[in-house]
Amino acid sequence: DALGPTVCVGEIIVEIMATTPGDGFRQPQPLIGPFPSGAPLIFISQCGRMGGQAAMIGAVGADDFGALNLDRLRGDGVDTSAIAVDPELPTGSAFVRYRADGSRDFVFNIVHSAAGRFGWSDAVAALVGRAGHLHVMGSALSMPSACRVIERAAGLIKARGGSISVDPNLRKELALGAAAEAVFARLVGMADLLLPSGKELFRAAGMSPRAATEAEAVASLLERGVSEVVIKRGADGASACDATGAVHAAAFAVEEIDPTGAGDCFGGAYLTCRRLGMGVEQALTYACAAGARNVSIRGPAEGAGTRAELDAFIAAMGRAA
Ligand code: ATP
Ligand code: MG
Repeated sequence: DALGPTVCVGEIIVEIMATTPGDGFRQPQPLIGPFPSGAPLIFISQCGRMGGQAAMIGAVGADDFGALNLDRLRGDGVDTSAIAVDPELPTGSAFVRYRADGSRDFVFNIVHSAAGRFGWSDAVAALVGRAGHLHVMGSALSMPSACRVIERAAGLIKARGGSISVDPNLRKELALGAAAEAVFARLVGMADLLLPSGKELFRAAGMSPRAATEAEAVASLLERGVSEVVIKRGADGASACDATGAVHAAAFAVEEIDPTGAGDCFGGAYLTCRRLGMGVEQALTYACAAGARNVSIRGPAEGAGTRAELDAFIAAMGRAA
């Protein structure tokens, strides 16, 4: 971590959840929240809780939803000096309801909220000038201003010897335009660590899942200069692949209460462990524990564990960190 903090750029929002499963929000119904949310926020919160140096770039409104998020991040030890407080727009939000089959309905207010309207500033420049690592969340690339900040930060951090990780995190609800798609491809080309799940591996490799195997997609990414590809497999665990081969870790068996945020906690824990100097196997164990713990607790980031909480979780599951 000598080079400086891990920085993540992107949407900071609150999530308000339906307490009952069903279809959407066309009737009044019981809700719970606000909870701190946004994939970049969940990721960086997990980094801070795991004990890594962490900082975030983004924006909130001058309202209680913004204060809730800033309090959360500061409590996790995350540097918030480059989070702007927008004087006009409210903090972003997402209303979420799970359907009976586990899929989700959303009502988003992100792109036209404070969450989507931050740019390069003196505070951002100062943070990027001392950052050691940039983590890119694909979801943030759907916001044009965030996309520009991310690409500029990536160039500067890489130039000063820092490293880059990319979680494609490309949901069908957040389609990328052609310009953002090109930025995504350039960032994959700069990445040291890639954290895909499902079909994202093939998308990052620029290959079709029908024409290439998983091993071929990984090999092509390693050839392009990515040093590590860590594939997230939900309840089937995860695999870390590099030039020396692949290591697989089984998931921890938990009851899935709320799957939102699993991949973000997994990535935050994995990256932080690696930056703290741990080997691949130990980092995978902590990452799987972070993902599993978070799905077992309601709220997008409520289950992000501290290192002590993850040690206790791993021990309670009968495994060793
Ligand atoms: P997200 O929906 O947050 O984007 P993702 O698709 O990026 O998630 P997942 O593979 O769903 O990532 O989850 C990341 C990791 O969390 C998994 O590799 C696994 O270790 C753990 N995990 C996720 N779901 C479960 C589960 N139901 N039981 C146990 N562990 C889980
Ligand atoms: Mg994901």
